[in-house]
Amino acid sequence: MYAVSGFSRTKKTALAGPKETESLMTRAQALVLVTVFAGACSSPPPERTLIDVAATALGGADRIRSLKAIALTGSGSAPNAGQNRMPDDELPVWKVTEFTRTIDLANSRTRVRQLREAQFQFAGATVQRTVQGLDGDVAYNATPDGTMTRAGEAAARERRIELLHHPITAVRAALDPAAKITNLRAEGNDQLIDITTAKGDAITLAVDQSTHLPSRVMSMSDNANMGDVAIVTTFTDYQDVEGVKLPRRLRTMMDKYLQMESMISNTALDGDTSDLEVPASVKAAPAPTPPPVVVNVEPVSKGIWWLAGSGNHRSIVFEFDDHLTLYEVPLNEARSKAVIDKARTLSTKPLTTAIVSHHHFDHSGGLRVAVAEGLTIVTHRDNEAFFKDLLARPHTIVPDALQMKPTPAKFEFVDDHLTLKDSSMEVQLYHLLDNPREGTNLFAYVPRDRILVQADLYDASWNQHLWGENVLANLAQRKLKIERDVPVHGVIEPFDQMVKTIKAKPTIAGTN
Ligand SMILES: [Zn+2]
Ligand SMILES: [Zn+2]
Repeated sequence: MYAVSGFSRTKKTALAGPKETESLMTRAQALVLVTVFAGACSSPPPERTLIDVAATALGGADRIRSLKAIALTGSGSAPNAGQNRMPDDELPVWKVTEFTRTIDLANSRTRVRQLREAQFQFAGATVQRTVQGLDGDVAYNATPDGTMTRAGEAAARERRIELLHHPITAVRAALDPAAKITNLRAEGNDQLIDITTAKGDAITLAVDQSTHLPSRVMSMSDNANMGDVAIVTTFTDYQDVEGVKLPRRLRTMMDKYLQMESMISNTALDGDTSDLEVPASVKAAPAPTPPPVVVNVEPVSKGIWWLAGSGNHRSIVFEFDDHLTLYEVPLNEARSKAVIDKARTLSTKPLTTAIVSHHHFDHSGGLRVAVAEGLTIVTHRDNEAFFKDLLARPHTIVPDALQMKPTPAKFEFVDDHLTLKDSSMEVQLYHLLDNPREGTNLFAYVPRDRILVQADLYDASWNQHLWGENVLANLAQRKLKIERDVPVHGVIEPFDQMVKTIKAKPTIAGTN
């Protein structure tokens, strides 16, 4: 993810040019002006004054500069953007039962530990412990037993920006003489400035005009599905802790979605942070790069191929009389472009159509590249507004295929069912009904081969199959004679095996 400098810029007021000014001035007026200018030059620019005012309200610039560490303990919630049942439903939420965030200000280190519980039906571990940290430019993840693994450059960048989403770190960064502070403007009851840190990270700080305390920190970032997004953390419920004002409630939005809300129950200043330093072995390890996208082709039946390879998001290609149709453009542009390219090698017939199984972000991540590649999108009608919005959003921070080649979208919407049929192939599409997780899901059935093609209905490797009975009821209701499951997640299995796994007592999800 990349950050760019802040929000809308205020219009610059036009100034009279020097020639014009001279002609209008008397010598005496000029002298007065010089004096006034000299006086003005010695006072700090208004951006600097705003930082000083905010620093004073937080406890004083010297106090902020001399702070060594902050340790925050609390609880909160972390919704899952792009995983709701319907595109406009409330997001499924992880309840964060324990949360600690430690910041070593002097050494630019931070660590966030979370214990979270799924408040929604989830196929993986429903209780999870996460440990994520940053030591300078080195990001790492750790297991609960302390094993650390270096994380990639993108995580490091993201966490460096996230570290600035706190009033103390933001104001401290702005107090650094090497920081650039520009573009003072008013917005509602706040005054805003753009800060570019000595490292080049850009945030916007909002200061409440009545309390003089920071009210928000904002930064811009790229999201694979949503493109340019504002990440905004709001600070409220300030309390005094040893002479420093600290917010007890922090609420971070990504665009229109709540990303994290934390309620701080305890704050400790200047505690021991020696354990935030990453071991030399982790520091010395190269930052991992995203694994290469590999697409392997596995023939399933005549004119049907399963495109697997790296990761656990597969696609299926169907060959019709005069064209190819792809089921699923998953994950992101890189995966989906590779899948589209591979599909085009399977036949001389053109690839014309992509069925997008449902709106969840990991299944619609290839929507934009599919449109840029000229494919007609087949999806459930309830995805229409959501997908049109995703297609219209700007992706300027990390320009994607559609940003670089704006292409009008072609859609074919499905209500309850749709049959795609010619003399070579028949694919029946059905809307999955009454499912607690999947409100817009279309699964496919090929009667000739008795094949089920599905995404998120079932994966043999899931911890539990909480909506398995609903899936079996849907398949029975459609009177399908299925012999094989050819899934987007998991492996190709005989249908008997799929039923057996669903009927078996679900694994009780443990902590991972
Ligand atoms: Zn899903
Ligand atoms: Zn999925």
